[in-house]
Amino acid sequence: MSASPLPAIVHLDADAFFVSVEQSLNPALRGKKVAVGGRERGIISSASYEARACGVYTPMPTARALRVCPDLILVHHGSGKYGEYSRRMFDLCEELTPLVERRSIDEGYIDLGPRGHGTQAEIVAVAGGLQRRIWDELQIPVSLGVATNKLVSAVASKLQKPHGFVVVPPGGEAEFLAPLDIGRLPGVGPKTEASLKALGIARVADILARGEAELQAIFGSGWLEMLAAARGEDDSPVETEHEEAKSYSQQETFARDIGDFEEIERVAKGMIDALMPQIRADGKRVRTVTVKARYPNFEHASAAHTLPESSDLETAFYPWVAPLLRKAWTKRRPLRLVSVKLSGVDDGPRQLDLFGAADDERRKRLASAVDVLKARRGDGAVMRGAQLRGPGRERG
Ligand SMILES: [Mg+2]
Repeated sequence: MSASPLPAIVHLDADAFFVSVEQSLNPALRGKKVAVGGRERGIISSASYEARACGVYTPMPTARALRVCPDLILVHHGSGKYGEYSRRMFDLCEELTPLVERRSIDEGYIDLGPRGHGTQAEIVAVAGGLQRRIWDELQIPVSLGVATNKLVSAVASKLQKPHGFVVVPPGGEAEFLAPLDIGRLPGVGPKTEASLKALGIARVADILARGEAELQAIFGSGWLEMLAAARGEDDSPVETEHEEAKSYSQQETFARDIGDFEEIERVAKGMIDALMPQIRADGKRVRTVTVKARYPNFEHASAAHTLPESSDLETAFYPWVAPLLRKAWTKRRPLRLVSVKLSGVDDGPRQLDLFGAADDERRKRLASAVDVLKARRGDGAVMRGAQLRGPGRERG
């Protein structure tokens, strides 16, 4: 083989994860109409494929699910066990390679490219072996997409759920995507899908057929990203948590567009809460916070603020969330996505403000203590993505 190995990214997506965990713990639930839901929140967070065939989906109010599917077996949303299964599942992935990016409690990317100059057949065999092993050891069904990049592998893994295994050969990315429904592209939610279809864009190929001016009119500043996605181009690396980070970021695509300022502000602050423990654990400090807002049509804008001195405390960045959000969210239309990035990473010794130092140290100790508690409860580093997605947003 040549010196540069074939790029090979596997996207792993567990099937009906919460329900699958319940079925693994209680095999009597297998093959039945089962859903996991919170009674007090009243929302279905995961539904078996049998329940889906009966009209149950996520997120759906529990009361409604029981109406459309009266013989539905409702399992109370348990805490802790899903995180434990998630850890064991990703640990099996990391036995293959350390290049594993845990995107959420039940989804992640595995970079098999540098692993061993594998031929396509060898890569496919390794991925198939992983799928079997996760089933053998955990009784969790997973769907895999194998491709040369993250974007295409993520589309592929969703295509034949459950127990899916879809391989897109190198060079075949655009051809693979072209006939697919436009809603299959990452970031195209049901609303965007409907408005694109009204414009005659029903399949991915329909984007490629449009001219630049037309795409700009439709997608605004996000048109180039959209075009690259439609072509199956994506050079974003698989990011492991062990790597030196240049920035820390988190984003959330809402299941429905949100127009409430305070709700978005809460989500954005929650992202700072989720990112800071990792920054402290890495022994880093950050200086710049960027808030990005995206509308359903892919138009987006961002605003940033840089502190005079880097910090690893949530409280240093909280006050900037609302002003930055106001600056980025100029069009008062509901948002589809919000993201927070913390950059300007610094690990040098910091300059202590003599008067503020004692207080700062106390707050830092308090913050570290909370991190330890979170880690003990099992919703620490590994669970960060899941925490933000919330139990109501598991999709497949
Ligand atoms: Mg899933």
